Amino acid sequence: MESFHHALNFKYDLCIGCSHCTSVCPTGAIHIENGSPVLDTNRCVDCGRCYLACPVNAIYIEQDDFQTIYNYKCPVVLIPSIFSAQFPEKISQCAILSAIYHLGFKYVYEVEKSVDLMKEVIKEQILSEEREKPIISSFCPAVVRLIQVKYPSLVPNILPMRTPLDLTTLYIRKRLTDQGIPDEDIGIFYVTPCAAKIAAVKSPVGEEKMPVEGVINMNYLYNKVFRVIKEGVYKLREDEFDFHPISQNSLYFTLTGGEIKDVEVGRNLAIDEIHNVSDFLEKLEDEDIDNIDYLELRACDESCAGGILCAGNRFLIEDRQKKRAQGKPKTVTPEENKLLNYFPYLRENLKVGKVAPRSMDKLDDNIAVAMRKMKRSFEINEDLPQVDCRICGYQTCKAFSEAIVNNEADVRQCIFVQRILEQTDKLTTPEALKLMRKVWGEKKIEKHSIKHLDLE
Ligand code: SF4
Ligand code: SF4
Repeated sequence: MESFHHALNFKYDLCIGCSHCTSVCPTGAIHIENGSPVLDTNRCVDCGRCYLACPVNAIYIEQDDFQTIYNYKCPVVLIPSIFSAQFPEKISQCAILSAIYHLGFKYVYEVEKSVDLMKEVIKEQILSEEREKPIISSFCPAVVRLIQVKYPSLVPNILPMRTPLDLTTLYIRKRLTDQGIPDEDIGIFYVTPCAAKIAAVKSPVGEEKMPVEGVINMNYLYNKVFRVIKEGVYKLREDEFDFHPISQNSLYFTLTGGEIKDVEVGRNLAIDEIHNVSDFLEKLEDEDIDNIDYLELRACDESCAGGILCAGNRFLIEDRQKKRAQGKPKTVTPEENKLLNYFPYLRENLKVGKVAPRSMDKLDDNIAVAMRKMKRSFEINEDLPQVDCRICGYQTCKAFSEAIVNNEADVRQCIFVQRILEQTDKLTTPEALKLMRKVWGEKKIEKHSIKHLDLE
């Protein structure tokens, strides 16, 4: 199985082996070995919950080298519209835009320019008799991956359409090459509010390759732009008092409920935060829920305003974005948003290839072996205490039982099993300590680690 790209990485020198990352992961993708986190790359969906839970910033998100923008004669930056909502109100759109140009970009575009087309497509799909319902939006890449690995039976429900990021990128490249700029001179850099979009760009689902040259983390660009504004070293481009004209619908799109806002047909729901999404998908898979046409599902709390690479508080970001939207018309004309003139071209390129399920629960490629292993892991799990204490290093007793059948863990790592074996003299204290060290490393088990406790 081809592996997913992950932007998420660990700084092992900072890690204190607390396992908070293990406990919050919606797919059980992290376990602890030798006092450090180990990532199961087939399970991770790049939702970033572990990054938020780490108390010592031992998890970081990789990005491309910013300097590569200077390798192109025509560097273009593609930013989500919530980028400008990161800044305090006293900093104008004009100042933000001018500072971005100052960094060396020739063109600045907001991703949501193509939302007006997306809205039409969503409406058509809801009305289509052929489409399996509920349709699940493909906007959030962490959700698409979650469905692939954890709810594979729902993969056919994912809308096989490009996202606003893909469509706006296609538009920019076409427009600039139509103007005579050679393709090799154009470098499109996407500014991401989350790790999942980096993963989607580096290993896209249903597409061969994403047409962007690099990805920049939003908090990184925010700091750069903020510094330029603070130092006042840029030239204010008063002719460009705002980003390109964009509709109110476009500005709402990345907020919770924005995708289904004003769609006017069908029964549509918006759900945010990965655990809420996961609970809902579980119910949907068990067929507890019906009579829904369209599901807008977002991994982050408050959708993209709560992206892990946002620079500010998600509630303030959402509020600023809504205020900016209030001053905009619901729709804009093709004269204002040139992308609208490219509708026929974008429609031709709307569909993506097949999204494949890739179940994380598959214990072996050979079906007979996988069935045998599954049966054995159920039996082992039945004998485990169901406390999900994580002392074994795994998120749950179930995850631990699966690791045991795959020969990745020893059943005696369970603290309850250890106590039972000690009672019957089947395990000595040194053997039990050796097992604990295997999971939690040397430091936590040494005598000096409890020097302040009066235990004599
Ligand atoms: S990014 Fe999300 S899925 Fe991946 S390890 Fe972290 S919490 Fe788990
Ligand atoms: S949350 Fe995970 S990465 Fe962070 S210190 Fe704890 S074990 Fe290490």
